Amino acid sequence: MPDTAKAALIDELARVVGKNYVLSTPLSLALYECDAETMDVARPDLVVLPKSTEEVQKVVELANKYSMPFTARGAATGLSGGATTIYGGISLVLTRMNRILRIDPKDMVAEVEVGVTNLSVSHAAAPYGLYFAPDPSSQSASTIGGNLAENSGGPHTLKYGMTIHHVLSTKVVLPDGSVTVFGGRSKDKLSLDLLGLMVGSEGTLGIATEATVRLLPRSRFVETMLAYFPSVGTGGQAVSEIVAHGVIPAAMEMIDSLTLNAVEDYLHMGLNRAAGSLLIVELDGPQESIHVQRQIVESVAKENGALSLNWAKDDKERALIWKARKTSFGALGRIAPHGYVLDGVIPRSKLKEAIERIAEIGEKHKLTIANVYHAGDGNLHPCLLYHRENEDEVKRVMLAGKEILELCVELGGTLSGEHGIGIEKVHEMPMAFSAHDLAAMTWIKNAFDPRSICNPGKIIPQLKSCGESGMRPLLRHKLLSGC
Ligand SMILES: Cc1cc2nc3c(=O)[nH]c(=O)nc-3n(C[C@H](O)[C@H](O)[C@H](O)COP(=O)(O)OP(=O)(O)OC[C@H]3O[C@@H](n4cnc5c(N)ncnc54)[C@H](O)[C@@H]3O)c2cc1C
Repeated sequence: MPDTAKAALIDELARVVGKNYVLSTPLSLALYECDAETMDVARPDLVVLPKSTEEVQKVVELANKYSMPFTARGAATGLSGGATTIYGGISLVLTRMNRILRIDPKDMVAEVEVGVTNLSVSHAAAPYGLYFAPDPSSQSASTIGGNLAENSGGPHTLKYGMTIHHVLSTKVVLPDGSVTVFGGRSKDKLSLDLLGLMVGSEGTLGIATEATVRLLPRSRFVETMLAYFPSVGTGGQAVSEIVAHGVIPAAMEMIDSLTLNAVEDYLHMGLNRAAGSLLIVELDGPQESIHVQRQIVESVAKENGALSLNWAKDDKERALIWKARKTSFGALGRIAPHGYVLDGVIPRSKLKEAIERIAEIGEKHKLTIANVYHAGDGNLHPCLLYHRENEDEVKRVMLAGKEILELCVELGGTLSGEHGIGIEKVHEMPMAFSAHDLAAMTWIKNAFDPRSICNPGKIIPQLKSCGESGMRPLLRHKLLSGC
């Protein structure tokens, strides 16, 4: 865009949101050049921080007037480059829209602006004995808008489902600047499920500005077990068998020995460094049912060679167990400065095979791979550790990542359980979807966004080559296809 047009746009944007909330200096733009998937970096032309739906609407109208793409951004904890502005344009940051508008304990819903963090919603609902169930490990930072756009899950997804199961409606600014509401507070089967389309669309169909979410009563009885196994395979086998025995725990999470040791180096909480894996199982519900389930879980764990197992004595001990799990990715920073976290899914029964073959892929590419699993739902998070300045290592990380995704698909799984496709897995989409599937996705995208102005280049692969498309050069393209 010519400098004069850009200056005019900045002027008009400043009149909408205030001049402090339009950022254009190289330093401030650099702060918004990626999300938590730091391999793909592309600087926006402008950063705009609106405070209301009306302001978002006017910003989107101006983006259309100046033909400038725009990309929604919450807390940028995304792990697939969804908020990264690969075509430049406006990074539309929603974190100033962080009000909780209403908690309705009778109907058990919360009405919120999308920039509010996930955990703040549960904190606001706590005095009523309620909480917001989706609990991504990033929940203290990630926003409801980001959770909705990624259809985020978390450790308790196994029993309570993904974000889609807890959102009743959302107010959306569509790519042309019009405002609409998808869904409603009451059960509704009258229309097309546009809410279902919006949730998980990674900011490609519009900008959510408000949401009404379902709250659940907090269970009075919770039991949390920490068990050690000689290997990831034996722990994985226990996970499969627990479910096969008819027990659906609230959560079943596993970390491997490398991660366990990194966490122990960080937290010094007395974890068993010699174990091959650590399994967390959480049960909740009526006390009698927990009692029965606890016996089944214990006996399955022992039959599968558990080295030891302990149940948390109180909430403090439970919180510490969860801290070990939720800080695991951060703790891996002690081993290498960068980690590429994958998110493939496999049928739970294939856990052991997947784990062994991921280790083989790591050996083949001479990479260190740490593993964290939402084991209960077969969602793998292999973390490929690397040093960004070592281009050869980065290239091997990308090749190994691709092979791991191929493996997940081969085993009957798919590319992503919760982190989304973004830019990171866009080229792998044909592994999991036919040309017809992708064409159907393209129709939907074109119906919402015919100008391809709303978070372009995400989810759906484009046939154009890098040079033709106008996309900013990304490291993965340079290393893998030389453009
Ligand atoms: C340490 C760590 C742990 C994590 N653990 C989990 C986990 O357990 N489960 C899980 O599912 N994810 C996890 N994630 C990934 C990430 O936290 C989630 O995807 C989260 O929902 C992103 O929220 P955000 O506010 O950071 O969104 P961002 O990263 O800012 O954006 C994510 C996507 O949503 C779009 N978007 C953001 N706001 C809006 C909006 N208002 N309207 C439309 N589109 C919007 C963006 O364009 C982008 O495509 C983790 C990430 C980290 C760093």
